[in-house]
Amino acid sequence: MDAEVLVVGAGIVGVSVAVHLVQRGRKVMLLDRRGPGEETSHGNAGLIERASVVPYGFPRDLATLLRYAGNGQTALRYDWRALPTFLPWLARYWRESAPARLARASRDMLPLIAHSVIEHDRLIERAGLSALVKPGGWMEAFRTEAAFQGRLAVCERLAAAHGLAMRALDRDGLQRAEAGLGPGFIGAIHWMDPKSVVDPGQLTRGYARLFQSLGGTLATGEATQIAHRGGTWRVHTAGGELAARELVIAQGPWSMELIGPLGYRIPLKAKRGYHMHYAVASGATQSVPIADCEIGYVVAPMQRGLRLTTGVEIARPGSAPSPIQLARAEGWARDVFRLGRRLDDAAWMGARPCTPDMRPVIGPAGRHPGLWFAFGHNHHGLTLGPASGRLLAEMMTGTGPYVDPRPYSPARFG
Ligand SMILES: Cc1cc2nc3c(=O)[nH]c(=O)nc-3n(C[C@H](O)[C@H](O)[C@H](O)COP(=O)(O)OP(=O)(O)OC[C@H]3O[C@@H](n4cnc5c(N)ncnc54)[C@H](O)[C@@H]3O)c2cc1C
Repeated sequence: MDAEVLVVGAGIVGVSVAVHLVQRGRKVMLLDRRGPGEETSHGNAGLIERASVVPYGFPRDLATLLRYAGNGQTALRYDWRALPTFLPWLARYWRESAPARLARASRDMLPLIAHSVIEHDRLIERAGLSALVKPGGWMEAFRTEAAFQGRLAVCERLAAAHGLAMRALDRDGLQRAEAGLGPGFIGAIHWMDPKSVVDPGQLTRGYARLFQSLGGTLATGEATQIAHRGGTWRVHTAGGELAARELVIAQGPWSMELIGPLGYRIPLKAKRGYHMHYAVASGATQSVPIADCEIGYVVAPMQRGLRLTTGVEIARPGSAPSPIQLARAEGWARDVFRLGRRLDDAAWMGARPCTPDMRPVIGPAGRHPGLWFAFGHNHHGLTLGPASGRLLAEMMTGTGPYVDPRPYSPARFG
């Protein structure tokens, strides 16, 4: 045996599962073909989004649908050639986004969301990573009064219902809070409970160092095949075979690659996204991440500079990057965020691992002993990594679990 438990995938989810397992006395190996936090867990907007109490549903109103159908938006773009394979998944996503079902998804996600900051804080403290994380929340900013007032009414209801700290800022209030912004926004909603990470890749690598310091083994290699023989999981890599009694699949958007051949049919799709860093123009400061809500992108102050992250792109798996949304967003952002020069040679591209019912897949595989899943964290994998890692580790070690795991069960997909 190379370990009692082998975790495949060292994004924020796999690393968090691995840390929680070693903390509970398991001998764990964490395997990644790159390194910890090199993929989407590196390139996101850095929000530990405690205030995201309603998952991102498929738009249901005709005006938004028509706008998106035109394919000229910044928030969402699709490649026509991807639609034949995406349509059944999108239809299911649309169904799951009906008001009553979205409300149920929201209720199901709340226990994990409510623990998101607390579980990060515990790991941050233990790993000594507080310099990477800022309190202060984030803002939804608006360009038109109608959109601002409409969203404000919704947010006031959500804040009251869930006990979230929120304040509305008019144009002057926003200018006082974020004096570096140029003209463009007429107001903003400031969510105060979330935290933001100024280098999400570093945070993930910091958690991986904590895992190693607790006795875990970090290995580099690509898992190409898995098999269960004689009560042992065998994982084939170019460097040889690894063996463990239990196996955790935490490969983010690639999670079906090893388990598809075993007969699992979980509808996991990747929603792609891009980022670019910009120099901070002299005199410009920004204290918290800000979403330009009517256009659909986020600008977050990071260690490297201002990171602009885009909305959703639906594209064929493996197709070349097409950073069209980034160019569109940059046009909108340049003046209002006073973006300086581009700092990266090319746009970074990542993939959100998404399920049509907007819940992650956490728990026993169901049809194979000792096989566990932790993937499908949609738009909130950075937020939920440690909360999900704790939940899976508690299920695997028979302690807890601290929240009801049934909404996330792989069995819901048959
Ligand atoms: C533009 C953008 C902005 C975002 N902003 C936010 C945000 O502000 N807050 C938030 O909470 N979430 C955000 N997200 C979503 C979040 O980043 C993801 O949900 C999260 O990173 C998923 O983590 P993961 O560990 O599941 O996957 P990943 O980070 O993709 O990790 C999967 C790992 O598996 C490894 N792997 C895959 N296959 C194999 C194999 N065969 N063998 C070995 N290793 C393998 C990969 O190398 C990789 O390291 C954003 C996403 C995007 C694209």
